[in-house]
Amino acid sequence: MSYQNIKCPNCGVYNVNRDYCSKCNTILSYKKRREQEFKKEEEARLEQRRLEKKNNPSFFEKYGNHRFLLVRVVVKIIKTIWVVIMAIGMFIAWLISSIAA
Ligand SMILES: [Zn+2]
Repeated sequence: MSYQNIKCPNCGVYNVNRDYCSKCNTILSYKKRREQEFKKEEEARLEQRRLEKKNNPSFFEKYGNHRFLLVRVVVKIIKTIWVVIMAIGMFIAWLISSIAA
């Protein structure tokens, strides 16, 4: 671990090897700050998606209960493929973030 002397951007106190300011508890670590911002963005994105889903029901919800069996089967197949693609996409995203970190 490297020696780090970080000046608190909030109160100006110098902190050695600390992620949080000893006086005012402001986050000092750049990495920690990035993590927290990322988490906040992720939450906002999830909230946005929830609202969108509420306002317009998805393709799957619309056709998943279709009166023709063929349509329901096709929707089911597309849904399965979609889930697989999402899983692969999430894996790639994880891979990229773990390489970048
Ligand atoms: Zn401080």
